[in-house]
Amino acid sequence: MESLNDLWDYIIKHIDSSVSDIGIDSWFKDCKVIEMTDTSIIVLSPNEFQANVLRMRYSDKINRVLRDLFGDNMRVDIVVNAPESEKDTYNQSYDYTFENFVVGPSNKLAHAAALAVANKETTLYNPLFLYGDSGLGKTHLLYAIMNRAIKNDPKCKVVFVRTRDFMNELIEAIRSGHNVEFRDKYRKADLFLMDDIQAIGGTNSSQDECFHTFNTLHEAHKQMVFASDRPPSEVPLLTDRMRTRFESGLIVDIQKPDFETRVAIIQKKSTQVGLNLSDDVTKYVAANVTANVRQIEGAIKKLRAYNDMMHLDITVSVVSNEIKGMYLDKQDDYGPTPDKIIEETAKFYELSVKDLTGKRRTKDVVLARQVAMYQIRNYTTLSLNEIGKFFGGRDHTTVLSSVQKIEQEANNSPAFAKDLKKLAHTFDR
Ligand code: ADP
Ligand code: MG
Repeated sequence: MESLNDLWDYIIKHIDSSVSDIGIDSWFKDCKVIEMTDTSIIVLSPNEFQANVLRMRYSDKINRVLRDLFGDNMRVDIVVNAPESEKDTYNQSYDYTFENFVVGPSNKLAHAAALAVANKETTLYNPLFLYGDSGLGKTHLLYAIMNRAIKNDPKCKVVFVRTRDFMNELIEAIRSGHNVEFRDKYRKADLFLMDDIQAIGGTNSSQDECFHTFNTLHEAHKQMVFASDRPPSEVPLLTDRMRTRFESGLIVDIQKPDFETRVAIIQKKSTQVGLNLSDDVTKYVAANVTANVRQIEGAIKKLRAYNDMMHLDITVSVVSNEIKGMYLDKQDDYGPTPDKIIEETAKFYELSVKDLTGKRRTKDVVLARQVAMYQIRNYTTLSLNEIGKFFGGRDHTTVLSSVQKIEQEANNSPAFAKDLKKLAHTFDR
C-alpha cells in the first residue's frame, strides 16, 4: 500500500503548475490511492463534494501525469468509498486457511495443487498459476499457502504481493535507479506469491525487470504462485517470454461452485458467523445466489444482520426478500426457470414436456409431474398457485400434496433422493 501513497505524492509533485498550492491543499491532500487496475487508479476522496471538484477540475490534469507514467490507457477514477469486496478480502487474510476452504469439483485441482506447494510436496508445480473469475477463492488460496508455509516453517520467508503494488514499486525503482535493490529484496523470498497478475501491464522495460526477478527466483528453486482472473494466454500486454515462463509450470483453473458445494459453503460460513440456517433456507440461498462465493458471503452477512436486528426466524420468504437485490438484477444469477426444470424433468423420465403439463394420469407421468413440481418449489421462489399454472392450472392443494409426497418418498428412499439430486444437477448451470 505504501507504494500507492507514493504514487499520489508523485502525482501532486508533477501536476500542471497551474494548480496552486492552495488547490493542492484543499482538494488533494486528504485523498489517497487505494487501488490500481489495468486501466485506472482508484482514488479515495473523503466526501462526495471534494470528489466532484477533483473530477470536474483536476481529472484531466491527473490523467496527464498518469499518461506520462504508464501510457495512454491509464485514467484516474475518484471514489468516495472503497469497493466492499477488496476491503473484505485483504482485511481477513488470517481467516484464509485451507481449513476454511470448502473443496468441491470446481476447485479441487486448484486446492490440491496449492496444498502440495504449501507443504513442499513437489517442485514440479513451479510456477503454479491459478486462474478463475472474481470471487472464486484465488486470493484465499494464496493466503492459505502462505499461512500453511509459515506454520510448517516459521523461518520461511514469504513474500505476498499484489501485482499493482509490485509494479508501482518496480517503476519507482527503475525511475530512481534502484533496480538492483529491488531485485535483491524479492530474491530473498523462499516463497513468492503474486496476486492479480492480469494487472501486470506496464512498459516492456518494467516487464523485463519483472522477468529477471522471476528468473532469479526460479533459478534459486524458490516456489512461485500467481493468481489471475484469466489464463496467461489472455493476459493483455504480457510479453512472450513471461507467458512462456508461466506455461512452464502448472496452470489450474477454478470454476464456479456447483449447487452442492454452494450448500457446503453456506453451511460453513453461516456456522462461522453464528447463524443457524434451516436446510430449506440453505438450499434456497444455494439455488439463488450462484455467481460466486463473495456473493454468497454477502447474502450470509445480510441474513446475519437481519437476525441480529429482528430476532426472528429466518424463513425462505424472509430470505427471498432480504437477498433479492443481490441476484435479481443479474440475469446470470437467476436460478433455473420453471420451464427449464420441467424440460429437464421430462428428459430425465424420458417423457415429453406435454406429458408433464397435460392431463394424463398414468403412474409414470404422475410421478414425473410431481417431481417437477417439487423441484420448482425447491429451486424457484414461485408460490404453490403459480407453480400450478405451469401444469395446466392445477390448484395449490394439488401442488402442495405433490411436493409433500415427493419429500416423503425422498425421506424413505435414499436411491430416490439421489435421483432427485442428480436431476437437480441438470438445472445447475
Ligand atoms: P478471488 O481472489 O478469486 O476474487 P477471493 O479469494 O477473494 O476471490 O474469495 C472471495 C471470498 O469468498 C473470500 O472471502 C473467500 O474466503 C471466499 N471463498 C471463495 N472460495 C471459497 C471456498 N471454496 N471456501 C470458502 N470460502 C471461499
Ligand atoms: Mg483476488
